[in-house]
Amino acid sequence: MAMQSEVYAPKSATEVKKAANAAEESQVPKKALYDRPVILTSYPGQNRVDPFPLKWGAPSAEERGPVTVARSIETLPHRNAIGAHGGSYCVYNALAIAGGFLPAEHKPDFTLTEPVFEFPEQESWHGVEKIVAMDPYGHEVPRLFKNYLDKGYDVRPTIAITKAHLQVTEIMNDVKAGELEIDGKVVLNENGDIAITKVAVDPVWYLPGVAKRFGVDEGSLRRALFEQMGGAYPELITRPDMKVFLPPIGGLTAYIFGPPERLSDPKYSLALRVHDECNGSDVFQSDICTCRPYLVFGIEEAAKEAQKGGVGLVVYFRKEGRALGEVVKYLVYNKRKRTGDSAENYFLRTEELAGVRDMRFQALMPDILHWFGIKKIDRMLSMSNMKYDAIVEQGIPILNRIPIPDRLIPPDSRVEIDAKIVSGYFSEKQVTVDDLACVHGRNWE
Ligand SMILES: [Zn+2]
Repeated sequence: MAMQSEVYAPKSATEVKKAANAAEESQVPKKALYDRPVILTSYPGQNRVDPFPLKWGAPSAEERGPVTVARSIETLPHRNAIGAHGGSYCVYNALAIAGGFLPAEHKPDFTLTEPVFEFPEQESWHGVEKIVAMDPYGHEVPRLFKNYLDKGYDVRPTIAITKAHLQVTEIMNDVKAGELEIDGKVVLNENGDIAITKVAVDPVWYLPGVAKRFGVDEGSLRRALFEQMGGAYPELITRPDMKVFLPPIGGLTAYIFGPPERLSDPKYSLALRVHDECNGSDVFQSDICTCRPYLVFGIEEAAKEAQKGGVGLVVYFRKEGRALGEVVKYLVYNKRKRTGDSAENYFLRTEELAGVRDMRFQALMPDILHWFGIKKIDRMLSMSNMKYDAIVEQGIPILNRIPIPDRLIPPDSRVEIDAKIVSGYFSEKQVTVDDLACVHGRNWE
């Protein structure tokens, strides 16, 4: 195990194993990972607990204060939020430290990481109603809270903003077929490369606001989180004074087509796709659902909107398999395929297993739209009634809803789409409950 004064370089697994074996053979006692006892911060007012003030929704970043969650020695007494940075990746951080790849007190160097686009501060960033699931100042932490960093406190960004080119096979084909024109700004060349600005967001929850969106009291929300995370984060129960929680889950990525400043200006037409992750279809192109076809349609329509002088936005949420996860999703697939896969029983099969048909609960989804300062959506590239209702309930009108074109629906995914239409999904096609009995998926070969 390397000493703390050494320069840390990445080690291969073989090197780590060799070092571990050598240490074992030489009988030299291993150096402890942490050279201090465990310090708990379980109760407000206990010795060493002195949180930095954090006023969610305050009118400026300075008055709001930083979200401080690290347990580094300088920062620990001043933590004012529960959880850890990096969403679910905090676990890999732990493995890196435990394995000796990363010093426990490593401090990131944020030089040159600043956003490629300066999103103007919006009215929605203030108050406790419109933004409760992300830190509106999360992209500017190194600048806004530089004085904290200078003093050695570990505060970190929860939003990053960069730019890139997309290369999507279906879009390349459409460019070649002349269905999408090359304008040199949005669609860059004959390969169909698309220029985008993208924003990655880790979840930062203001618990009273999250509870309100779900219509429950904060105590019940805290208790459910504590219990369902296996008793992790006991501060959810013991520290009601800490109102902010960084949950160990995936966040979202927003892809912007055209100049980002158009998002907050209602004079520009906006095309929006809100997409929840479906790895099997999005990446591996499984044909049992319409996820990838709808996502690609969303990307192409967003690009077209930008070409027409408007702006496009695709927001991608890490909520795999309706937030039930891939294991549950595949168990449901098995049930479906072994019972004749009919649209009539599509939701029932999920309910039998998961107890609900959907766990995505779109209540927190509109925060990112508020963060951009979006006032209305001209073209919503989604049929979901849950997404529609959540956005409209948050005071953002949707002027037009655009269903996935029929030609893009794989035959095996007819079961899903027709069941969803009967359950309330927006569609120009009429589907009745009686029709569902006749819609069947492909049998396993
Ligand atoms: Zn899917």
